[in-house]
Amino acid sequence: REASLQENDVLLPKMPPFDYSPPPYNGPSATEILQKRREYLSPSMFCFYKKPLHVVDGKRQYLFDEDGRRYLDAFGGIATVCCGHCHPDVVEAIVNQTKKLQHSTVLYLHHAIAEFAEALASKLPGDLKVVFFTNSGTEANELAMLIARLYTGYNDIISLRNAYHGNAAGTMGATAQSSWKFNVVQCGVHHALNPDPYRGVFGSDGEKYAKDLQGLLDYGTTGNVAGFISEAIQGVGGILELAPGYLPAAYSSIKKAGGLCIADEVQSGFARTGNHFWGFESHGVVPDIVTMAKGIGNGIPIGAVVTTPEIAQVLTQRSYFNTFGGNPVCTAGGLAVLRVIEREKLQENAFVVGSYLKERLTSLKGKYEIIGDVRGRGLMLGVELVTDRQEKTPAKVETIHVMDQMKEKGVLIGKGGFYGNVFRITPPLCFTKEDAGISLPLACNSHYGSL
Ligand code: PLP
Repeated sequence: REASLQENDVLLPKMPPFDYSPPPYNGPSATEILQKRREYLSPSMFCFYKKPLHVVDGKRQYLFDEDGRRYLDAFGGIATVCCGHCHPDVVEAIVNQTKKLQHSTVLYLHHAIAEFAEALASKLPGDLKVVFFTNSGTEANELAMLIARLYTGYNDIISLRNAYHGNAAGTMGATAQSSWKFNVVQCGVHHALNPDPYRGVFGSDGEKYAKDLQGLLDYGTTGNVAGFISEAIQGVGGILELAPGYLPAAYSSIKKAGGLCIADEVQSGFARTGNHFWGFESHGVVPDIVTMAKGIGNGIPIGAVVTTPEIAQVLTQRSYFNTFGGNPVCTAGGLAVLRVIEREKLQENAFVVGSYLKERLTSLKGKYEIIGDVRGRGLMLGVELVTDRQEKTPAKVETIHVMDQMKEKGVLIGKGGFYGNVFRITPPLCFTKEDAGISLPLACNSHYGSL
């Protein structure tokens, strides 16, 4: 299958100038690394590109390969690098803390854990102020579901179809895409209809999906549930915005059923969506528990669960502990990330640049039949490719092909969605309008027309 780029489709074929070039790289070559990876790393790990990309350096919104070639990183390490690769303030905070004390344990006092917890609490509404640090989003969601079960005394958790919440037993249960599930026990989770405005049965009518959720509670559970977990914008699921009106109605049903509402902000939190600091704020709801990871550490492995003092009490019933959660290096780094976001006004930047980029992408839709949908908010944007707009036939092969072509042009994006046909654009929040001007070099539809 051939499809070629048209030079005009790359509006800005040359990268803007950048005053950094990495020192020469003298380490093992991509071929050597690939060989080791094949031999010693889990075969479940896959590379995005036909010719795998070997990255050796990163600064701000750019990554550099072994030959010093610069790439615009529009994937941000899966929505993780929020204030730019190796931001000097974050590096300094990590290095300083590493030199002083790499690890203590939460059994002793350390200022970094307390300061970062206080700073996180100050970003959350209502009584959400008690923080429990973890090392990943999966751990955070596992803990959130445990807390919901303990607090309510019920077992059932409701999640949305197409969601991704992690890869441990409980979170794999809450995840609702077959490709991310293994055939192991994942009990106590029910998957509600996804309020998906593009492919969902009720289009963008959030209330109809919420009624269906009420039906699930009535017919599929005892009528009481432990909780409901959902992303504000589904990330792995293809940057899918939930139909308007759904979350408030769903939260209300869940509360009536005795459950707690968990907002999984692993991707949509920490200023990424631009108009608000947290994704759930755009839906006008206040959750009982908020989980976060990825962006909160700009790449440092750290996650967190935040809840109210009353709910947090349930964990005192027994011992609950996490060896690395709240590690001083990670919390010192996390605090620096938060301060950079505030000082450099990255949330505002995500809003302005994201709105501009979305506009640009939407205008490409008029030109290319293959673009079925453009969606998302701030710098969390998705472009769904279809070979037939009417049928919404997923353009899977084309997605991979165009991604490869983009990489050759020096632009890195991600892909996702149930069919793997959605471009995921989640760059560092320091992305500029100039960067956004590098439009998706989509092969024009006439090429696909002649496939
Ligand atoms: N929740 C969401 C929304 C995610 O996107 C992810 C990971 O992609 C997770 C949870 C799991 O996070 P982690 O990979 O850090 O365990």
